[in-house]
Amino acid sequence: QAKTAGRNTIRFFDPGIQAAMMQRLELEADLLSAIRGNQLELYYQVQVNDRGLATGAEALIRWHHPRRGVISPAVFIPLAEENGAIIEMGDWVLAEACRRLEAWQSDSRLGRLEVAVNVSAIQFQQQDFTAKVGALLAEYPSVSQRLKLELTESVLLNRAEDAIEKIRLLKNQGIRFSLDDFGTGYSSLAYLKRLPLDQLKIDQSFVRDIASDPSAAAITQTIIAMAQTLGLEVIAEGVETQEQLALLRNFGCRHYQGYLLSRPLSVGQFQALLAGGNPLLAAAEAE
Ligand code: C2E
Ligand code: MG
Ligand code: MG
Ligand code: MG
Repeated sequence: QAKTAGRNTIRFFDPGIQAAMMQRLELEADLLSAIRGNQLELYYQVQVNDRGLATGAEALIRWHHPRRGVISPAVFIPLAEENGAIIEMGDWVLAEACRRLEAWQSDSRLGRLEVAVNVSAIQFQQQDFTAKVGALLAEYPSVSQRLKLELTESVLLNRAEDAIEKIRLLKNQGIRFSLDDFGTGYSSLAYLKRLPLDQLKIDQSFVRDIASDPSAAAITQTIIAMAQTLGLEVIAEGVETQEQLALLRNFGCRHYQGYLLSRPLSVGQFQALLAGGNPLLAAAEAE
């Protein structure tokens, strides 16, 4: 008995676990001050077509934590989803992306870019989501034709009818929709067909292995063919090598995003990338 209790006690107070728990609690507590304290920033990662032209950018959130430095969204987005901070955070991301699109509007190059914004399932499922987006479009009328929302398959898991209705409503206002991380979820083909999407985003796990693993290549090919059948644009994410780019192109994929073209960049760096007649984008063009 005592032995069991002792073991449990030791387990509970395991310094490693305790440190991890403390860190988690601390981060959760810090999330809201992050939003209000101007610690969040959007980075932009260029999206390129098969002629090497920049057609858009994905907005990716960064958290500059006052003590811990930059924290990855892969760490804090799940926390924010659990404690509800994702709503306020998601509102901030959407508004910030719209302000950026508005600021870029008058620039001949930047003004043609489409900006893709990640929307958490929890955020999208809020009853007032479409109203919030509608309010932003009223405030920044020029952005509606250049805003794309990235959803994941989890958005559609429950309440598909509701999701379809929201997508329709926003599409009527000019917004486009992309299905992120495609291939990692559970969407059936029949299901996918019902969704009024514009784009499928091939998950980077397939792209990573496309040159080395025949089954990853086969899945990628199938996704591209399926997207074409459904009349959807397809974009590959996580493109890191010329070899991957060449294979994707052979398979019929015409839009790419990944470190080969550029890492996600701060606004200043991103603007410089586009202004610079960038050699990386030129390389994509030559390929
Ligand atoms: P995601 O939307 O699938 O974004 C792609 C992730 O892959 C980004 O990670 C990006 O930096 C990374 N990436 C891009 N190109 C490459 C490449 O060539 N190789 C490799 N290895 N990685 C590449 P990041 O920025 O850390 O974001 C992680 C995830 O966090 C995103 O995955 C998205 O699910 C979520 N996220 C980011 N920003 C937001 C946001 O504003 N709102 C919400 N709800 N989620 C966000
Ligand atoms: Mg995304
Ligand atoms: Mg993705
Ligand atoms: Mg993801």
